[in-house]
Amino acid sequence: MKRIRKRLISLLLSNHPNDCMRCETSGACKLQNFAYQYNVDGREYGGEKWNLPIRQANPFIVYEPNKCIVCGRCIRICNEIVMAGTIDFTGRGFHTVPDTAFRTARTLSICEFCGQCVSTCPTGALTDKKARGKGRAHEMKRVKTTCSYCGTGCSLYLNVKDEKVVRVSSDFFGPVNQGDLCIKGRYGYDFIHSRDRIKTPLVRRGDKFVKTSWDRAFATIASNFEKIIKRHGSDSVGAFSSSRCTNEENFLLSKFVRTVFRTNNVDNCARV
Ligand code: SF4
Ligand code: SF4
Ligand code: SF4
Repeated sequence: MKRIRKRLISLLLSNHPNDCMRCETSGACKLQNFAYQYNVDGREYGGEKWNLPIRQANPFIVYEPNKCIVCGRCIRICNEIVMAGTIDFTGRGFHTVPDTAFRTARTLSICEFCGQCVSTCPTGALTDKKARGKGRAHEMKRVKTTCSYCGTGCSLYLNVKDEKVVRVSSDFFGPVNQGDLCIKGRYGYDFIHSRDRIKTPLVRRGDKFVKTSWDRAFATIASNFEKIIKRHGSDSVGAFSSSRCTNEENFLLSKFVRTVFRTNNVDNCARV
């Protein structure tokens, strides 16, 4: 069995660029790992190599077909899990590669940009464009967290280097999503380090918002609510919480509204 495995890895490497020094996936590549484990250097068979152009005419995914081992995992996840049907095997024989119909560039009309194909690719053939050149897998601190975009609560890993989130990767053991993510969870992390992010409370002064301290912001909110309730009664106020918050935060809001405002006017967007 070991002999056959070595032979198969040799055959895969015979048509591989073996570009591990510069490859984005080096250190996290299953082909590289198996070549090391089975002590195969890829020089056993000479032969024709692919020299196909790198495809990156989209904001999220880089496809390097020369590094593809034609395992079909990207196609299966796209067709059977995502149900998008964006890619399939194209060409015949030696020229078989996964691609879009007529090899057109991926756009939002044919691809959901969920990155599921990237997450399952065992080599550097499919990589996340935004993370390229920002660090290898072993340089990243992986922080497990929950996506904050919707109430599904998908589990994911933030890959952090030099205190910056440079990539999001799948948590294959996440109880809710088992590694699946959508475009927002996978690629919507730019806001984390955005310069436009609001970092201090703002209060309205006429037509403008001005920065203030948390203590002053809370005092303003409390006194305004107090005035409204005194004038119009408890049922004149209410609160609407978000599924983007945790269960605990939603519970706290409900408790706060019922015990401090003394009203049952509290609801959550997940109910509708
Ligand atoms: S895909 Fe893997 S084996 Fe191929 S060049 Fe990249 S790291 Fe090396
Ligand atoms: S990003 Fe998602 S929809 Fe697009 S090809 Fe990959 S798996 Fe399919
Ligand atoms: S998962 Fe990667 S290596 Fe496998 S067929 Fe798709 S692009 Fe090629």
